[in-house]
Amino acid sequence: NSISNEKYYIQEKNLKFPQKRKKNSHKYDYGSVVVIAGSKGMSGAGILSLNGALKSGSGLVTCYVPQEIYIPVVSRAPVEVLIKTYDCNITEDDIKSDKKKVVLIGPGIGRGKNYSLILEHLLEGSLPVVIDADGLFHLAKVIDYLKESKTPVVITPHFGELSKLIDVPCEEIINDPIGYGQKFAIEYQVVVVLKGFRTMIFGTNGEIWFNSTGNPGMATGGSGDVLAGMIAGIAGQNVDLFEAAKAGVYYHGKSGDYYASHFGQSTLTAHNIIDSLKYVLK
Ligand code: AMP
Ligand code: MG
Repeated sequence: NSISNEKYYIQEKNLKFPQKRKKNSHKYDYGSVVVIAGSKGMSGAGILSLNGALKSGSGLVTCYVPQEIYIPVVSRAPVEVLIKTYDCNITEDDIKSDKKKVVLIGPGIGRGKNYSLILEHLLEGSLPVVIDADGLFHLAKVIDYLKESKTPVVITPHFGELSKLIDVPCEEIINDPIGYGQKFAIEYQVVVVLKGFRTMIFGTNGEIWFNSTGNPGMATGGSGDVLAGMIAGIAGQNVDLFEAAKAGVYYHGKSGDYYASHFGQSTLTAHNIIDSLKYVLK
């Protein structure tokens, strides 16, 4: 019964984002976000994520990509974004320079390289971390670090990714998404964004929110990469991770709805979600 109760659906009036900007402020007041995303053949995921962060109001976005995709990413990313290269021994100290506030790791990083060390460094560190996509594949290998971690973490799996992360068949999760999502959030003390047609957000204290925006046009490649970037971008703006997840999910869906209301659902692409953000975050 509680699920059908409207008070559990995210509503704009309950969100802590967007906030009015103070006159006397500078870019670092709006976050300095690090995006670790993209790999050979999946540079688009990185580009979509960094755009999601930038276009949700982030003061500064730095994207770390493997050397082999540096040129394609630089040539297709907005000029406002810093692009750096990395290998798999990047530490939180490297990332923490330049007043970094939040890290997103995962979209399009692939499964070939060993990301355990980076994840261990991030989980032992103190910056909030958003883990998405292939980042969740690598997280499964260092899951004990997640339990020990004191830093705020949000994971953004779809049902298939949660299934692999907790090693439970997807059908079981489909039958009880609330049970599995809530259990993980409480047990590991991380925010869980369980994505689907009605995305659910689980807080570390057992709180659950349901999204009220979005449409099936958003079932398209790259849509989730944009969301992960948005959550990181919002979290950098002095919004805690749980609230950033709620706001990110809500406005991601609203942006998709804005596009669909003008042009329909079938031509919607992930870039359209980014492009429509300016109308819904106005
Ligand atoms: P991913 O699976 O990582 O690409 O993420 C897909 C994104 O699109 C998530 O934010 C989903 O919530 C959203 N999405 C996918 N299918 C639908 C749907 N049928 N209705 C609304 N949102 C959807
Ligand atoms: Mg995804």
